[in-house]
Amino acid sequence: MDTSIAYDVVLLPDTDRAVAYRKRAADSGCSLMGVTVAGFGAWVRDLWELYGDGRTFVSRLEREALLRAACEGPADGDCVELESGKRAQRDGASGRCELAEDRIADGACALVGDGEAGALGLDRVAAACVAAGVGLPAFDAAVRDACQGVPAGAGALEGVTRAEVPVLRMIGGYLDRLAQLGMIEPGQALALLPELLPQRPLRVMLEDAAPLTPGQEAFFFACPWMEVEVRAASGSQGPVRAPEGVRVRFAFPSGQYAWPALLADIARDALGAAADRGAAPAAVAAPAAAAGSAAGDDGASSCEDASGSADGYRDGRSAGAQAAAVVVAAKDPAVLFGRVAPALVRQGYVVALRGRRRFADTAFGRAICSLRRFLDEGQAGGISHIEGYGDIAPTDVERWDRADLADWALSPFSGMTRKAAFKLDADMRADRTARRSDLCARLRGDNPMFAAMERLALQLDAQAAAELEAVVRRMTNRSEAWRVEQLAALRALQRAADAAKLAGLGADAAFDQAKRLKVNVSRIVAPRGCDGAALGAPDVLMTDQSTAASLGSGSCRVLVATDLTSAAYPAVDPEDASRVLLEHLGVKRVDSALARMRRAFFALEHAATDQLIFERCLNDSSADPTYPCVVLEEFVDCYRDDPTATEDIDNPYSLPEHLQDGMLLRGEDALCANDALSDAPAPEAARIEPPLTGAVSSEARSLVVLPRVLQGGQVLDEPCLSPSQIESYLECPYKWFAQRRLRLDDLDEGFGPLEMGDFAHNALHSFYKHMSEDLGEAKVTPQLLAQARELMADVLARHKALQPHLRQSENRLIPTSQVEHRELAELERKLMDYLDFEAELLPTFAPKYLEYDVACGGAVDYAGHKLLGTADRIDVDGEGRCAIIDYKGSISGSYALGVREEGRLGKVQALIYAQVVRRTLGLEPVGALYVCYGRRKMISGAYDGRVIENAHLPNMRHKDCMCADRSFSDVLDETEEAVAAALERMLAGDIRPRPETPEACKWCPVSSCSERRG
Ligand code: SF4
Repeated sequence: MDTSIAYDVVLLPDTDRAVAYRKRAADSGCSLMGVTVAGFGAWVRDLWELYGDGRTFVSRLEREALLRAACEGPADGDCVELESGKRAQRDGASGRCELAEDRIADGACALVGDGEAGALGLDRVAAACVAAGVGLPAFDAAVRDACQGVPAGAGALEGVTRAEVPVLRMIGGYLDRLAQLGMIEPGQALALLPELLPQRPLRVMLEDAAPLTPGQEAFFFACPWMEVEVRAASGSQGPVRAPEGVRVRFAFPSGQYAWPALLADIARDALGAAADRGAAPAAVAAPAAAAGSAAGDDGASSCEDASGSADGYRDGRSAGAQAAAVVVAAKDPAVLFGRVAPALVRQGYVVALRGRRRFADTAFGRAICSLRRFLDEGQAGGISHIEGYGDIAPTDVERWDRADLADWALSPFSGMTRKAAFKLDADMRADRTARRSDLCARLRGDNPMFAAMERLALQLDAQAAAELEAVVRRMTNRSEAWRVEQLAALRALQRAADAAKLAGLGADAAFDQAKRLKVNVSRIVAPRGCDGAALGAPDVLMTDQSTAASLGSGSCRVLVATDLTSAAYPAVDPEDASRVLLEHLGVKRVDSALARMRRAFFALEHAATDQLIFERCLNDSSADPTYPCVVLEEFVDCYRDDPTATEDIDNPYSLPEHLQDGMLLRGEDALCANDALSDAPAPEAARIEPPLTGAVSSEARSLVVLPRVLQGGQVLDEPCLSPSQIESYLECPYKWFAQRRLRLDDLDEGFGPLEMGDFAHNALHSFYKHMSEDLGEAKVTPQLLAQARELMADVLARHKALQPHLRQSENRLIPTSQVEHRELAELERKLMDYLDFEAELLPTFAPKYLEYDVACGGAVDYAGHKLLGTADRIDVDGEGRCAIIDYKGSISGSYALGVREEGRLGKVQALIYAQVVRRTLGLEPVGALYVCYGRRKMISGAYDGRVIENAHLPNMRHKDCMCADRSFSDVLDETEEAVAAALERMLAGDIRPRPETPEACKWCPVSSCSERRG
């Protein structure tokens, strides 16, 4: 840098670089007295404020919002398709609508490039055209002609396709609206300023300049009294060899797990032993002052702005103070900082971050976006066609997602404790009837934070934003850097809201824009007792490539450029619709992504005084190989004799042998060391024996079955089981343990087989009760079918009405969607149809005991232990014989007695009840039957073929279920014996996974089971 500036104005590509320039000047003792140093855009704005006509510059957000409003609003010959929100064009003759995007795509060139038709709407195409073209004579003339109805191809629209004319017309409408609002495009101001500026000599220097845009060229051409010197940024032609004395190394972590550990190693090696600051190694958060000011004037910038700008450095520039000993230029420095900084701070280093984070990734952005999704009624709107159910529209309960409210509740912006947030989540999930409006009313009443965030999320209420800002400022338990980040996010949303309001758009548009914004983040963390902010420069600075490139030559000892893959830094310019339209109007592209990358890379090369390290992960997160980005390949080529040869770089590193010297490698196999970011052996804090699986330890064995509380409050200490528990243990001991003892139940209230089964059982119980009480009949017969159907309809109606009044623990059946309503209707139909089947079932028997407590409030003896349980139904005949009936929604082969020939017990519930009933009621069991009321009515189980006629058991595979070669009581005794043996194993703590059939594994909640079958 010259020590005396011979210019009145020094212009840099952006504000960041202007600030860096002033700092370097101050460091090198160069006086800038009387010199304007600014970004080009800021300088033009200042000139307009001094000499302009009073109109204000439109911001990018305002431009996009106004164009979106222009795109959404009806215009001549145009309409908006409600479903997709796409702009459609009306065919005057037929009234047929055709999407403008489709027409554009059909044009000479696809205006909307591949994959962009949905993402890049006409408003954004127009916004890009406006930013690049307004103020240029050819563009302005084309807009004027389009608005005056000149056809495509004529006048200033020569070369413009028919499809592009509506975009130009829309831009014309937008410019008129801008004028009404007293606003102006920067491009328009640039075109007007030469007429307005005082014509006095001015020495202007464009430093580190990218190629001038057509608007800039035209401006300086129209101001001949300005003496302009352009110092083009270096490196546009490609990388060069690293400066003399700077060591070049390459780092290759093999994958994402090794990546942070290798970068931590690099930083440690570069810094050597930790600086002795008398610091205890513990991380604290400190204000971000020393990490540099946040980039940008307004605390937020667009995603598009984040990349693409570059700087250049010429030999002999004075670097002044170093930004940090080690500068790491990463694609996403905030992620890297989160992974690596804590370990470095523990080892005594001061680490800083300067980067940008998406609005939606900030704590505030996440919270407000979650709350808006929860509050936004239409999010799951629309009709879906579901096979077998027809067209289904979502109900109100389906339109919102409980997880969205839970995400908000768990954020720092809910004002709730973690316990209260988890309780809210659990309450919501346990209650299918929870309504969004009720939850909102409750939260509104209890929680002022909710009320403010709701007003902001739905109405973009400025007062609510002010309240939230005050809340953030009061969050003194958080670091100042965190608060600054959240305030920046809040302000970003406010700016998007202001732009949306200006354009007459709603909250949807504001949130769409806010989600595309990035906010600046800066942090500095230092060991405990060390004031990082007072140190001047951190040991390690993590930042993005653009910021690192703007730091200046010699700004650090070691520069680590990371993520140098072709995926992270693609060198291709997007061929989008705006580019095609501008080219049709003769507005050529003057810069390219490759040129910007080359300039940035050149600057990085000259930033280090000692070492340059280039890092590329060999594999991406999908374990696919990565490829070096173009500039890295070009840099390597600088060191090769023949860049067209391939043999010397045909290796995983794409490096010639002499560049592999000092290469830094790290594999993913060292899992613990990678995770701890250190190869030092971890001190053993505790030794934990691997958990016992497949068996309950001797100390816990007494808890395999918990004590039972009987009716009347008596506590039974002896092991006491139910037939369903025994059946579950026989199915698979480990599944029984997981389901019954660990209770791996879902938190969500269900609408599945359990709830449907309980509903059907209760309805059938109630039906038979009323059969005998109201009709004086115990059994459905063909003659009673009409009355039985009437009664069943009444029972079902009453049971449906009862469900919302039941407790959640009673497995109530609450449909919340149209699909579930149809499933419930189908279940009712099945139960109604079941009556026909019931009329043919066991005609010589009649239901006598319904939901019968076999232990009569206590516990009965079975298989050497205590047992309790309720049999669904016991039918009795005139001879004192009984059949146990167990209702099922569906039946598999395991229910038949015949499975014993395969060496397994099969289902035993009904057989257990039969044995107990034989003892307690003195009846003679002749059947233990599973009766299916599902779509296919059928029966399975076991029965005494000498007593019950086959015809009395319709839809049964009699040969599999009939017991004819031995007495039925022998089957019951044999079952009890087998159950006794199983219970001994259970009580001895044997819970090894041992599925009786592959079917057992089908619905098992144990996800990681080595014995899983099927
Ligand atoms: S997956 Fe199969 S074997 Fe494993 S616990 Fe579940 S039922 Fe048993």
